[in-house]
Amino acid sequence: MASNGGMVLVIKAPRGTHDILPSEMEKWHYVEEVARKVASDYGYKEIRTPIFEHTELFSRGIGDTTDIVEKEMYTFKDKGGRSITLRPEGTASIVRAIGEHKLYGKGKLQKLFMIGPMFRYERPQSGRYRQFWQLDFEAIGSSDPYLDVEIIALSVEIFSRLGLKGLSVELNSVGCPKCRPKYKELLKDYLRPYFDDLCESCQSRFDRNVLRILDCKNEGCRRITESAPRMVDYLCEECSWHFEEVKKGLNSLGIPYKINHRLVRGLDYYTKTAYEVISGELGAQNAVCGGGRYDGLSEDIGGPSIPGVGFAAGVERIVLTMEQQEVAFPRSRGMEYFVVVLDSRYKEFAARVVYELRHRGIYADMDYFGRSLKAQMRYADTMGARKVVFVGQEEVDSGMAKVKDMQTGEQVEVEWGKIGNE
Ligand code: AMP
Repeated sequence: MASNGGMVLVIKAPRGTHDILPSEMEKWHYVEEVARKVASDYGYKEIRTPIFEHTELFSRGIGDTTDIVEKEMYTFKDKGGRSITLRPEGTASIVRAIGEHKLYGKGKLQKLFMIGPMFRYERPQSGRYRQFWQLDFEAIGSSDPYLDVEIIALSVEIFSRLGLKGLSVELNSVGCPKCRPKYKELLKDYLRPYFDDLCESCQSRFDRNVLRILDCKNEGCRRITESAPRMVDYLCEECSWHFEEVKKGLNSLGIPYKINHRLVRGLDYYTKTAYEVISGELGAQNAVCGGGRYDGLSEDIGGPSIPGVGFAAGVERIVLTMEQQEVAFPRSRGMEYFVVVLDSRYKEFAARVVYELRHRGIYADMDYFGRSLKAQMRYADTMGARKVVFVGQEEVDSGMAKVKDMQTGEQVEVEWGKIGNE
């Protein structure tokens, strides 16, 4: 707290950020634990890249005319005068790392995942933050459409193991540098007569990023784009084959999906497959996960040509959906022993007992407020302690601990040092 002209200013977390408090953290750990298990079942290894990168990585990778690069990056000059940006997403960094450490080559596939915070200067609302966390999965090194299928299956597997229901996969193909430019021109030709009826942002997207007009939420724009030409009808032979293979693969795994012709994603690096996993519970920010293929990304950032496919899922949105669907989270670890000090002269002894129990991997605790016996018992109960151990003159002198089971009320005597075997 700082005082300012008689007024007290309370410092709060910056707008769009949030504290993840211990009660919430347990849910996060569970989500991460499930994601890590699925990663290991699918053969994905963890990678951690820096939280900040050279700004150029994102301006070249994500695309100069995207909302992220134009409006949402936390960019600053460091003390050496370099332009630095807090990462708004993880894919560009991971692809950079693969190139930088020469982890690519013929027949080499890098299957990687990363869990960490991302930063975007967006308008905060439910499910949208300025610092948020993503689970990022990337398979880099092959252009096989069955890798796209694997990535989609992997994301769906995480959500289904977490117990999420009613999610849907939306799929599209955004083509490649061979077929997309022609489609963009066709789309512009179609939209030109309606230009004045488009919303202001779509008018400005017309020249810079015409594909984004397709996913504008504005009702008027949606009516106009309803019968716009569809990318999938203008794919080149290779992209068309790829799209068919991905659909075939998903069909054979029994993973339901819907084709969404409006799905273009907010990052320029996507080629061919683009997909999202949508939750009905999330309202306007309804995507729990988004991803696709990015065969040109590595070259865009000045690296070698390496194809790749991946997805990112928002941890806040996963937890939010789980809460709204009342999916059970595992219960947190309960306290095993609470050591009750009956006589403050034996506090030192009690502290040693607690220390030794903990050393043996047993969750034990004691009182630090000089509470009465009754208050200590009440506290042990609030903490959900399974058993309490009494420390007083009699127990110390006799060498026998009294251990009481909080549930049954049963009390037994056991040698100090053998607590846990009673
Ligand atoms: P993107 O990197 O934009 O493809 O987003 C991938 C996923 O990250 C989305 O489906 C969301 O779950 C999550 N996400 C993206 N932006 C935000 C944000 N500002 N706040 C919270 N989650 C986000």
